[in-house]
Amino acid sequence: MSQLLSVVIQAPAHSAIAGLLSYQSELSLAPGTLVRVPLGKRETLGVVWDPGSSDPDPGSGVEIRAISGVLQGIDPLNAQWRRLISFAAGYYQRSLGEVALAALPPQLRDLSPVQVLRRLKRGSTGAAGDATSPTAAQPLTQEQGEVLRRFGSEAGPFLLFGATGSGKTEVYLQAVQDLLARNPSAQALVMVPEINLTPQLEARFRERFVGQYGEDSVVSMHSGMTPAQRLKSWLAAHQGVARMVLGTRMAVFASLPTLRLIVVDEEHDPSYKSQEGARYSARDLAVYRSQLENAASGSTSDCRVLLGSATPSMESWYHSRPTADGGRYQRLVMPSRVGATATGAGALPAVRLVDMSQQPKRTVLSPPLLEAIGQRIARGEQSMIFLNRRGYAPVLQCGSCDWKSECPHCSAYRVFHKIDRTLRCHHCGFTERVPRACPSCGDLDIAPVGRGTERLEEHLGELLSGIRRAGGEPVRIARIDADSTRLKGALREQLAHVHSGAVDVLVGTQMIAKGHDFRNITLVAALNPDGALFSSDFRAAERLFSLLMQAGGRAGRDAAQGLSSEMWIQTMHPRHPLFAALKRHDFASFAAQQLAEREQAAMPPFSFQALVRAEARSQEIAQGFLQAASAAASAVADFARVTLYPPVPMSIQRVADVERAQMLVESPSRAALQRFLAGWHGVLQDTRRQPEAKGLIRWAVDVDPLAI
Ligand code: ADP
Ligand code: ZN
Ligand code: ZN
Repeated sequence: MSQLLSVVIQAPAHSAIAGLLSYQSELSLAPGTLVRVPLGKRETLGVVWDPGSSDPDPGSGVEIRAISGVLQGIDPLNAQWRRLISFAAGYYQRSLGEVALAALPPQLRDLSPVQVLRRLKRGSTGAAGDATSPTAAQPLTQEQGEVLRRFGSEAGPFLLFGATGSGKTEVYLQAVQDLLARNPSAQALVMVPEINLTPQLEARFRERFVGQYGEDSVVSMHSGMTPAQRLKSWLAAHQGVARMVLGTRMAVFASLPTLRLIVVDEEHDPSYKSQEGARYSARDLAVYRSQLENAASGSTSDCRVLLGSATPSMESWYHSRPTADGGRYQRLVMPSRVGATATGAGALPAVRLVDMSQQPKRTVLSPPLLEAIGQRIARGEQSMIFLNRRGYAPVLQCGSCDWKSECPHCSAYRVFHKIDRTLRCHHCGFTERVPRACPSCGDLDIAPVGRGTERLEEHLGELLSGIRRAGGEPVRIARIDADSTRLKGALREQLAHVHSGAVDVLVGTQMIAKGHDFRNITLVAALNPDGALFSSDFRAAERLFSLLMQAGGRAGRDAAQGLSSEMWIQTMHPRHPLFAALKRHDFASFAAQQLAEREQAAMPPFSFQALVRAEARSQEIAQGFLQAASAAASAVADFARVTLYPPVPMSIQRVADVERAQMLVESPSRAALQRFLAGWHGVLQDTRRQPEAKGLIRWAVDVDPLAI
């Protein structure tokens, strides 16, 4: 007798099907089984889904086709994984098929079942390596010990609030080690925000664990891997061979049948929020995933989740307020840097503010900062200067008429890159040679306005040309940003260069501010952070504070050298409260002030938001679509508990000749917002089918958006 199955497949983004189709099979297949099914004239990968209310209506007279085959040798994806996918699809307003298939490695989709089977056999058996014991961990600091004691004995979720250099990574390693020692089959998931940080992390985990648990016990998952590598890691995790998965946000969807620990390092980092497709937050899903595991095992602490940061997100900080005030997370603290001494060696850097309103106009590096850098060079110490803008200059301008280097396809200027004499749009990629003369009036007097890292590097070369290193050689300056690291392996090479001491002054974007364990940098400078102080985005201050703390965290990390370190900030607003808190390294008071403001203005985490974005041929169509969907929302469930704001153009209104608009939806209740969005989805789809929406290219919902 043939069985009727619901199968999840990848549905084209805007097709009517949500990705759940009916098939039949002679075999009795458990939910979670991977199958190949016919779809139109082609064949595609599917996942057998739980039978239930969401079953598609087979429709009368529609022939139900048989599945084409089963992917042999791969166990069904377990119930917790399927629940995670269902939850993510519902919460972030995407189709089940899109989320489920995006969570699987692409080769599962592209290879034939026979090819997959071959890969499975080729994968190793997971035999332990030589029986050497793990690399001896260093004795824990008192703070690390206390944190691990509480982590092991309480239920989470946990927020580890630890200063930069307080030894958070060692806590993660030790937590994993304790888990594996206790539970011979347990798996751990450790996430970091950036691909660039994974090799460093992987090296530390391999060093600690492969001796005892085998070569394949540690695997990575990130988008920089080849499809073959991704399949291999995925299979190792799914089969339970891999005991630790290290990865970026995508790893939150890895199949881990015996998951018992999740770590989210730098949990505040915006890159945990996906910016395309299903705009999920891997941090939030990690917390949800641990709850799913606990619910499945009926315990509150079977699968613990640990979020770590020196500058937690306002959301996590608020959740970790005292339980008596309604906090749901346990806050664990490590305020001290490892090995810091009373004399200040190895301590957090002293913050120096330079009042740029007292400096001559157009000063790039103030004399006191320049002098401090010169002293470091003479002593053989390194300095790091960061400026969040790459290229030579953000705009090229004509001195005679008002021509500026606008992008013809975007509402933005093209950036001048001197190295290859191009004007490049950082939004659509449109690139042209720099014109010899003004394209508008023919004048030869066209000049760069403003400054990016490329120009800063050049300028520093001039400013420091009179200075010599201790040995009499000229100063060595290097730059690290998205342009300098375009080639594969370039970043690793450039970082190694810095680590080896072959660089005196490192210039770069926020790329160098995060995570790297530099040992000889004793001065960090931020040249122009003021833009974020008065931004219309309510999260700008939070991002700036954490970026500056992170950047400062790169300085003075080696206490053994006995050097004290400094963080310099050039600003027009030295008395801004953000800088006052930074000077004291006082995240708690900064957060208290931010949260007070947000509570007063009823902003997250005191309210819940979603953005609907629309892209169209014209701004009128984009806004018209949002307006119409808004006008038709009154019959939707929980309409009374949400606020729909008027549609507005996005801050960069046109990109690649597409006009973009957005509309904010807000509610004091997360549940009400969720119910409203679920009901409104059909209204948006109907609105899109109206003749007025002709010219609309796409629309999408972003739940819990990070940038507004
Ligand atoms: P964080 O992630 O909190 O910024 P790290 O984990 O990178 O800090 O630790 C900072 C430095 O301190 C690293 O070089 C690390 O090897 C070292 N370290 C961490 N824990 C200890 C310890 N218990 N004893 C000695 N050194 C430690
Ligand atoms: Zn001109
Ligand atoms: Zn452009």
